[in-house]
Amino acid sequence: MQANIEDMPGMSFDCECGRKHSVDIGKLVIGSDNLDEIVEGLSAFRGEKLLVLMDKNTYGAFGEIVVKRLLDYGFQLKSFMFDTGDRMLLPDERSIGRALLEVEPDTTFILVAGSGVLSDIARIVSYRTGKRFAIVATAPSMDGYTSVGSSLIVGNTKTTIYSHYPCAIFADTSVMRNAPMIMIRAGFGDVIGKLTALADWNLTRIINNEYYCGTIAKLVQKGVGKCMESAEGLAARDERSIRCLIDALILTGLSIGLAGVSRPASGTEHQLAHYWEIKAVEKGEEHPLHGNSVGVGTVVTAMLYELASGILPEGIDYPKADFVKSLLEKVGAFTNPRDLGISRELFVESMMNAMNMKDKYTVLRYCAQKGKLEEFTDIITRELYN
Ligand SMILES: [Zn+2]
Ligand SMILES: [Zn+2]
Repeated sequence: MQANIEDMPGMSFDCECGRKHSVDIGKLVIGSDNLDEIVEGLSAFRGEKLLVLMDKNTYGAFGEIVVKRLLDYGFQLKSFMFDTGDRMLLPDERSIGRALLEVEPDTTFILVAGSGVLSDIARIVSYRTGKRFAIVATAPSMDGYTSVGSSLIVGNTKTTIYSHYPCAIFADTSVMRNAPMIMIRAGFGDVIGKLTALADWNLTRIINNEYYCGTIAKLVQKGVGKCMESAEGLAARDERSIRCLIDALILTGLSIGLAGVSRPASGTEHQLAHYWEIKAVEKGEEHPLHGNSVGVGTVVTAMLYELASGILPEGIDYPKADFVKSLLEKVGAFTNPRDLGISRELFVESMMNAMNMKDKYTVLRYCAQKGKLEEFTDIITRELYN
């Protein structure tokens, strides 16, 4: 599978793993200064009524320019900008309800200019109202653009609800390179997390004979590898490095749809990040950006793998904690849960309990089964919270 990412939409093939893999997204446009491509990519919807969703930040970043260009080209649209003041926009009932009010009986298409939260809101609203939707991505902050699920906050807890794929994703590197640095760091953390996710996938293949696809694992490894090689340029917002980051995020996001399971993109590092996120949401507190937590979770998971090296089955490739740390440091990202505001107590609790949240076998469960999780957690905690 050597395809260029932009050629992947619509692709379908029978794989050595015994499954048929397909990419059910209509269009992927990644490039620099690609406003014209956005207009062209949406031309099929020119006669229809578009709803454009943005927030104050994404309006300034790109939304305003996109809307103006679409209007110049004769598109019929209504735009809506979320304004939450100092409050962070959350993908909760309130925002979803607000967006729903903007959908009119003759709206046929929803275009969202934004990153994770906004695209999750647009994804669920478009799905439940039977409209198609497309994303103009504004930040390389997470791998969820190509997701089929919406990550939402419902009833004060985080949950993922099945929705649908966008029919098109537009990523303009000349815009996305100007995203807040914390979002670029988060995107990089989400990519680095695949190193331990792939180790977990391999571990469960060996221990539980769980479904595994070597082709997809290699594809993810390649995308992550390219992104790691160009990490240095991210801090300087070098456009080529940003492109590698976007490619890796889109590719690893697509890998979930290809595999039909989240294994290639999420393992222990995501279990830990989700645990910290859920605990914050339950208390009504803000939590760090997903990818920032995943990056730290990757360091922790690598530490756990190193401690477990003597009891692991043969053939598990896992990253060294120092290596993960050095990568994150290249972009100025956090490497310690303490710096994310995770208390020592919460950290220990997450190490012991994160494996119970979703029925997914990872190195946490493996260590628990070997009777070693408490001991390893203790060692890691003392190192991180000294
Ligand atoms: Zn396969
Ligand atoms: Zn993630």
